[in-house]
Amino acid sequence: MNKPKMTTEKGIPSNSRVLMLLGQLEKMNGETVFSDVEVARHVTAKILHLIQTQEKTRKEIMAKGSSGIEVILTSLESTRDLQTVLNILYILNELVSVGGGYRVGVLVSKGGTAILLQLLLSASKESPPSDELMLHLHSILAKVGPKDKKFGIKARVHGALNITVNLLRQNLQNHKLLLPCLQVLRVYSANSVNAVSLGKNGVVDLMFKIIGPYSKKSTSLLKVALDTLGALLKSKTNARRAVDRAYMPMLLAVYQDWHRNDTRHRHMLIRKGILGCIKNITNIKPGRKAFIDAHGMKILYSTSTECLPVRTLDPLVNASSLVMRKCFPKNRLPLSTIKSVFQHTLPHVPAEGPVAQIYSQPPDVDDVLDDSDDNDENDTENDTENEEEEKDRNAQNDDIETDISKLRPKQNLGRPLQELKLYERFFPELSQDFQLYFDSEGKCLNPPAPPATKSIGPIIVPTAQVQAPPNPGPAHWEACLANDEPGPAHRETLSANDEPSDPPLHLESIHLSNDCDHAHWPQQARELARELERMALDGADSPPPNAVNGQRPPTPGEAERDFYCHRESEDDRDREREEDSSSLSSGEQAVLEVPDMAALLPLHDPELYIHMVKSTCSVPQYSEVAYPDYFGHILPPFREHILERVYGVQRLKIFQDIERLIHPADILEKVVYDLDLRLHSCPVISDGEALKFNSQFESGNLRKAVQVRRFEYDLILNSDINSNHYHQWFYFEVSSMRVATPYRFNIINCEKSNSQFNYGMQVLMYSVQEAIGGRPRWIRTGTDICYYKNHFSRSSLAAGGQKGKSYYTLTFTMTFQHKDDVCYFAYHYPYTYSTLKMHLQKLESLRTPQIYLQQDVLCETLGGNGCPVLTITAMPDSPAADHICQFRNRPYVFLTSRVHPGETNASWVMKGTLEFLMSSSPTAQSLREAYIFKIVPMLNPDGVINGNHRCSLSGEDLNRQWLNPNAELHPTIYHTKGLLQYLSAIQRAPMVYCDYHGHSRKKNVFMYGCSIKETVWQTNASATSCDLQEDLGYRTLPKILSHVAPAFSMSSCSFVVEKSKESTARVVVWREMGVQKSYTMESTLCGCDQGKYKGLQIGTRELEEMGAQFCVALLRLKRLTSPLELRHPSHFLDLETEVIQTNCKATSPTTYVLEEDEPSFLEEVDYSAESNEENADDDRTSDTEAALT
Ligand SMILES: [Zn+2]
Repeated sequence: MNKPKMTTEKGIPSNSRVLMLLGQLEKMNGETVFSDVEVARHVTAKILHLIQTQEKTRKEIMAKGSSGIEVILTSLESTRDLQTVLNILYILNELVSVGGGYRVGVLVSKGGTAILLQLLLSASKESPPSDELMLHLHSILAKVGPKDKKFGIKARVHGALNITVNLLRQNLQNHKLLLPCLQVLRVYSANSVNAVSLGKNGVVDLMFKIIGPYSKKSTSLLKVALDTLGALLKSKTNARRAVDRAYMPMLLAVYQDWHRNDTRHRHMLIRKGILGCIKNITNIKPGRKAFIDAHGMKILYSTSTECLPVRTLDPLVNASSLVMRKCFPKNRLPLSTIKSVFQHTLPHVPAEGPVAQIYSQPPDVDDVLDDSDDNDENDTENDTENEEEEKDRNAQNDDIETDISKLRPKQNLGRPLQELKLYERFFPELSQDFQLYFDSEGKCLNPPAPPATKSIGPIIVPTAQVQAPPNPGPAHWEACLANDEPGPAHRETLSANDEPSDPPLHLESIHLSNDCDHAHWPQQARELARELERMALDGADSPPPNAVNGQRPPTPGEAERDFYCHRESEDDRDREREEDSSSLSSGEQAVLEVPDMAALLPLHDPELYIHMVKSTCSVPQYSEVAYPDYFGHILPPFREHILERVYGVQRLKIFQDIERLIHPADILEKVVYDLDLRLHSCPVISDGEALKFNSQFESGNLRKAVQVRRFEYDLILNSDINSNHYHQWFYFEVSSMRVATPYRFNIINCEKSNSQFNYGMQVLMYSVQEAIGGRPRWIRTGTDICYYKNHFSRSSLAAGGQKGKSYYTLTFTMTFQHKDDVCYFAYHYPYTYSTLKMHLQKLESLRTPQIYLQQDVLCETLGGNGCPVLTITAMPDSPAADHICQFRNRPYVFLTSRVHPGETNASWVMKGTLEFLMSSSPTAQSLREAYIFKIVPMLNPDGVINGNHRCSLSGEDLNRQWLNPNAELHPTIYHTKGLLQYLSAIQRAPMVYCDYHGHSRKKNVFMYGCSIKETVWQTNASATSCDLQEDLGYRTLPKILSHVAPAFSMSSCSFVVEKSKESTARVVVWREMGVQKSYTMESTLCGCDQGKYKGLQIGTRELEEMGAQFCVALLRLKRLTSPLELRHPSHFLDLETEVIQTNCKATSPTTYVLEEDEPSFLEEVDYSAESNEENADDDRTSDTEAALT
């Protein structure tokens, strides 16, 4: 070893006493033999004395630049004299016992660990070893160990483990020595390899000898022993050893003992230490079993309940709750299969993928929870939340497209031009001459005959071979109800099956079909209906045949529809008002404050809605209409804030769940709604006390409701059709409620690992009583909302090979305001396909002579529904050639929406866009004059109709089919892509393409775009990026949006192309059609955390505004890019410069965003049910543990 020279830092007097002594010591180190023992003892004793008495001395030795520590360590290495060694150990102990970790750090950095461990080894060879030496050596090692990351390995290499263990064994009664030894052992055990080897040497049992019942004596010893044991038990073999020796009941008994006796909560760390041991044993399956067998659930439940009132004991409650959740037996969902209740026979089954898997499953296989999960030893240990998230994150990074060839534009069209000619008819604007629309003086005729509206039938699969449809299954083609306007050829081919004797549409009741349960109708609503009927009859020209006043209470739908019938036109309405006032002058008329929906909601028409529903084909053949869709939604006059999370809500809910196991007798388990029964009987199971559920209407998807306690219900959502998962969207009806009673609802088969419900989002509720009272609206509601991993699990088969994948619970509590109300709950503001059809029809009424509006049906979906496509632009100024030329040469803007049915917000944004485009404002007119808009407002009608969350009837995510859509399985995508390919083929690729979506895990509205450069930047492949030329224009539109749209957030945007997104609309349109401004626009389902709407949940007003502002931004974009404007610089140009500047400044673009916006953990209780401590690496503690300490 190099002999360090005693040096001093500037400013420290060189005549300092201690430095002189150190110099002396250094000199002796230089000698080959440590000759003068007496001198060495003397010098070290002096130094010790100085150190003990003067902090100044300690500072001098430890000062930066001082080699004091080196000199001392070298002396320790060279001397063999026990007294000198002891003196030096005292010195080191004094030095490191104050000054925090810094001084220990210096000691470690100077190689102190190895020297001390070497000393331990040589001292152990003496017989007997000096107790005093061992004591001091261990107390220094106890301080050094935690500061040295390699301590565990170094100790093992030096053979120190057994020395300490043997010492411990021999000194179990010698507490003075026991404590430092245990402290060192605790550090050894943190290393997983050491833990296994120590366990083999009986250290687990040794620890159990030290851990005893409650006693005020030697609590610090106990604490360290528990920590050590906890560390050891992270190893599976040690945990199993503890189970085999029946230590679980002992730990539980000790815990109870401390819980009972530590009344003043002075020893929380000991109690927490015991729980830590229990927690680690329960990481293995036998451990969980031992815990259950030893009544662990009851013990921890009752102790935690007693701890609850004392806030300082929260760490104990949280640790207990974690253990209980982990040990809660995994349950199967109360279903016979998790496959969707409804099946839809596909024209052909895709060769591979999830749908193929489902179809290839033998019918008798149990896909809910199979045995293989139960017998697996390693099941949940590694399936932890944190690891999942870690994986997600890694996957995200891996997900960036690094293959430049995949980022460069793809040149070929994909389909021959000849074939694409099929789409020509969807672009009449490019060939029309408009001679008919103007009079001889060139004035636009008013109103213009809509150009060829609806004259064009949907596309019949062009590649095809129009095959006869497959033999209809029970819930298949019959779903196409008798249609007022018999549709296109396609449906005619079906007419053979579509006998008039088909089940009639039960639309008399817009609420519940008659064959079910009349009594379901609330009394008050019935009365109201009667009133309405009276009113309707008075004004009606031909009253319903047997509707004698007061004899037969009509179903409300009937009455209301009559009511609305008489409001069809202004004249009618006026006449009706007169008649009403003359015939109903009595007092009862005052009761009838039914809102004038037509005035409140100009583009909503209940009558028209019903009409639209009749031509909507659903797989379950829905014959009911949900009230909210019928009445419509009017904005509430108040703001809806993002809900602040109440402390401890999740814990409370989890405790209530645990009580199911503790007090099984309290649990009702009564099925009150079961869609699986629908083929044999009615799914609504009537029972006086219980709530009634229903969701057999468009976009509804409740599968089962189980009454768990008197006022608590577990709800199970139906899977997407032809799938066994994707549960997130929900829409169902509740009635027969009590007033002023809090009801708890749990949706128990959610799948995502986190949700905005944990970050202030509320569910939506619609009260029919409120609607009738003049407030037809969806409101954000519910209290005690949280989202957490529950004890239900699905089979590895269903989880795609992953073992025991847990479900999540969304829980909320609702207190109803009205007696006999009918309420609806939804994940987000519903927007059905029938609503879209109604809305599109109402848009016609906004047409002015200046507006060119064309509506067509692009194609038919698998379910037999039309996929609408719209063209909106301005009429040409005149039929003169130059005007027609300007008209035809306007750039295209291509918009699509609602490919994901659960993202209803996308439809509301689209509604805003459409209404803006049809509005009479000068901006709208300028916009129409600037572009031709081609819009497919609902890419997935079947998914929307059937209550799917993600997929179409083919069981696939349609936004992953754009690379190679199948004409039969994905007709809407195939043909929308066809439209774009056609435009591309005739050199008219759109200037902007945007697909509207909703985002469930982030706030605000933002865009994903495509940039080669930003993608390459993310991968740090700087070499390749240098020669890339890229126009920054893709950033302009989002940048403008961030200026004009309050909900829009530029910082959430990303322009990175991910591998997993290569088959999405955005990437395919960008790459294959060369559309640089190709986007996905994501709107939050929750709310905003920036801008004008910061702190508010998003509503339909904000969503519609977003759609309108998108249009405004397009106009600005047009002006920015117009050559005319370039000659007259405006502030828009500054904006462009700013865009470029900010972008250029960004050396490392941070636009690449992770899926999650939110911190992983808000409350101390984590969201996972499992902990991640199974494979204990050296210094790792779980997040939960970190949060607790
Ligand atoms: Zn989406």
